[in-house]
Amino acid sequence: MEEMKQLIDKAKKIVITTHKNPDGDAIGSSLALFHFFKNIKKNDVEVIVPDSFPDFLNWMNDADKISCYDKQKEQADKLFSDADLIFSLDYNALERVGDMAEAIKNASAIKIMIDHHQDTQGFANHYFVDTDCCSTAQLVYEFIEKLEETKNITKDVAECLYCGIMTDTGSFRYPSTTAKTHKIIAHLIDSGADNAKIHQAVFDNNTTDRLRLLGFALTNKMKVFAEKGFAYISLSQDELKQFNFKKGDTEGLVNYPLSIQGIKFSVLLTEKEKDISISFRSKEDVFVNEFAKKHFQGGGHFYASGGKSDLTLDETIAKLEKLLMC
Ligand code: 5GP
Ligand code: MN
Repeated sequence: MEEMKQLIDKAKKIVITTHKNPDGDAIGSSLALFHFFKNIKKNDVEVIVPDSFPDFLNWMNDADKISCYDKQKEQADKLFSDADLIFSLDYNALERVGDMAEAIKNASAIKIMIDHHQDTQGFANHYFVDTDCCSTAQLVYEFIEKLEETKNITKDVAECLYCGIMTDTGSFRYPSTTAKTHKIIAHLIDSGADNAKIHQAVFDNNTTDRLRLLGFALTNKMKVFAEKGFAYISLSQDELKQFNFKKGDTEGLVNYPLSIQGIKFSVLLTEKEKDISISFRSKEDVFVNEFAKKHFQGGGHFYASGGKSDLTLDETIAKLEKLLMC
């Protein structure tokens, strides 16, 4: 910590990065750290993400200042090569940042990882990692605490951290939510985070199309194997197009089957342009990270993992059903 403190003191140019398809924790923790650095007068700080993020995260202050690598590659490459410090937030391996990996790998900057995923891959110089922690946003709070700088948790920092913790804990209900999480949340509210406003901004922000897609998916596309405690939803490109799919529209959809009595394992398969993207969620004694890693080129947490398949959607469904029927 002492070394990281000195590195931050000395650093002039700081770049904060997170994983592709950024979620609430990725954007929340990145922007929180961005605001924190501004507060301690580290003004030359940038957030660079591999690709765009859902609209329901746009309300965070300075979300419009985030650069997307897929659209501003040249500019971002220069920021990476000029940086003194690069922060890697909410990812454990360079493969999680897609095309941005090379630029981070080749940068001469010192790299600091703040993350809560299993299987940390060693590409950074310093690690602030806790795989038991509910969210990277909570770790950013603990990092600021260790820097003895909690006085610089202003409203902007607090709101972004609140959003990260809220989204990664399923609104404070997953087992990773601890008394400490609630104490931190209390401090964030005391620091100006408007909890009701943040919940509304994130969750009451549906388009009609998104809600109808949810209805369609649950009515027509959810297959339940009650005796196996397993359910999945699959969505093809054509189906997504019918509902004018926008990034983020299927966020959270994988959680619905898990709310059925006796269902402990839920999967969402979404057909993308190049491959099939897969989300896994589970509860109680079922863990999904090894399953995602072994069969679907992915990984993640015990109860929430992701992966992909290069087969067609139908073939992927067949593979999944076969695996779960044994
Ligand atoms: P989601 O289903 O929301 O895309 O991902 C759930 C969790 O699994 C996230 O915390 C994410 O970090 C992790 N995850 C998603 N995709 C991958 C992947 O391809 N590889 C690994 N190692 N983890 C993933
Ligand atoms: Mn996270």
